Amino acid sequence: MRKYIFVTGGVCSSLGKGVAASSLGSLLESRGLSVCMVKIDPYLNVDAGTMSPFQHGEVFVTDDGAETDLDLGNYARFTKSPLYAANSITTGQIYQEVIRKERKGDYLGKCVQVVPHITDEIKRRIYLLGEKKNTDVTIVEIGGTVGDIESIPFLEAVRQIIQESSRRNALSVHVSLIPTVSGGELKTKPTQHSVKALREIGIQPDILLCRIATEMSDDMKHKIASFTNVDYECVFSAHDVSTIIYDIPIIYRAQGLDKIVCERLSLDCSKDTFGNWQRVSDTWKNAKETVEIAMVGKYIDLEDSYKSIDESLIHGAIFNAVRIKIRKIDSENLTSPEETEKALAGVNGLIIPGGFGQRGISGMIDSARLAREQRIPFLGICLGMQIQVIEWARNVAGLKDADSGEFEPNSPHNVIVLLEDQVDITQYGGTMRLGRGESVTVEGSRIYAAYGKKSIFERHRHRYEVNNRYRTVLEKSGLIFSAFTPDGQLIESAEWPNHPWAVGIQFHPEFSSTPLQTGYLFRDFIAAAVDMMRT
Ligand code: GLN
Repeated sequence: MRKYIFVTGGVCSSLGKGVAASSLGSLLESRGLSVCMVKIDPYLNVDAGTMSPFQHGEVFVTDDGAETDLDLGNYARFTKSPLYAANSITTGQIYQEVIRKERKGDYLGKCVQVVPHITDEIKRRIYLLGEKKNTDVTIVEIGGTVGDIESIPFLEAVRQIIQESSRRNALSVHVSLIPTVSGGELKTKPTQHSVKALREIGIQPDILLCRIATEMSDDMKHKIASFTNVDYECVFSAHDVSTIIYDIPIIYRAQGLDKIVCERLSLDCSKDTFGNWQRVSDTWKNAKETVEIAMVGKYIDLEDSYKSIDESLIHGAIFNAVRIKIRKIDSENLTSPEETEKALAGVNGLIIPGGFGQRGISGMIDSARLAREQRIPFLGICLGMQIQVIEWARNVAGLKDADSGEFEPNSPHNVIVLLEDQVDITQYGGTMRLGRGESVTVEGSRIYAAYGKKSIFERHRHRYEVNNRYRTVLEKSGLIFSAFTPDGQLIESAEWPNHPWAVGIQFHPEFSSTPLQTGYLFRDFIAAAVDMMRT
């Protein structure tokens, strides 16, 4: 019988449900079990691809090119779960499919309704994932907060799955909040209410993960247990960590979460490989030096906009046994070379992340110039690489008006142009060059040194590319193109000559870096930044 764990959230959003679900996944994996992580987003968008990073944070891309919620990034960093388009379910997808079947005539004669047609489609997708080979436990995170109108059909489907599993093969884990009110008092009432709301729709939580500022006392655990009908040993303190998110599985493990889950689902938990996670945490704790990296982007205001890059930089730091501070700089504020100089003063590296649209571009170009001239280690990701190429074209290759077709379609020198197969595309959703692709690196380059091989695979999400008509002119002026698609047609990476370390890549290495397997470019970028810090 397949095992399912459903993770819901109560009281309010942004409680770190994704990290909680991921931590649980990592704990089960450290017990020798294989997990499949699934995210349900109750919004009507078919995927996250059309949503603004200003509002929703980063869009995570899977190998098969799905544009998903950033929680899949957490799953990827904490677990070995396969993550494909099917692991990200939205209301939009469910309705699209049910309406497609209705139009085809599959429900002929029937009135198509939320229950059972929508709920059946939700269950079908969850069961399909759960039945995959090599999956011991399927962990399904339901986005949003219990009580939201839009999540009701999903919770109804969850209720049915729990019932169909005779309650022995499925668990409900509820992440809730114990707020501190003025005077410092901790309040359990919101948690009591959110459990009540969950029970009203027929789900009795088996496990409570309570977000709380400091570790929860035993008394409070007893109180919550008695009010919510949850066993005392199933109430967990999910207190804030002052360090890195990779400490969260450690907190849960110390309270025995993995053992309780295995016991309740009758799973064997005799294996234990948790030492790997402990080592990640210890390396960070014991690091003495702090490297400082500037990130110049336009979606700086929202903490989650560059989530995978933030985490990958932390992985790079852990690999190099240092801590890291990321100085996030809004490129729109860099309105003059003096401003750029001031904003970047003292940093040991510069990263320019991906992005879309014209806003804030000139500040990015100027920060790339500064990193090139002042020999500051540089990593440009997707848009960051395009910026690197534009800057070089303007300031070194003498193409004064060099630009990207995305920002200035009428520039005399569009060194960045629309990909050929994008020209006739009119629809936005899911139409970029997306997903895993091969690049072939050039021996002797930084990127070749990083990956240690010629054939590499990373994920893409872009519409523009370096204009091949300028390849020769840019190369003649010294810019190094160091990776290409296997057919040689698309330029995948650029490097500055005579520079300590500067690599721009058209793909997104941040989607495949994990704390236990640091992305090669992040490892080498931080190593170069550490060199700079020490000299
Ligand atoms: N806007 C650029 C493009 O579409 C870069 C995209 C990105 O950084 N992900 O090519």
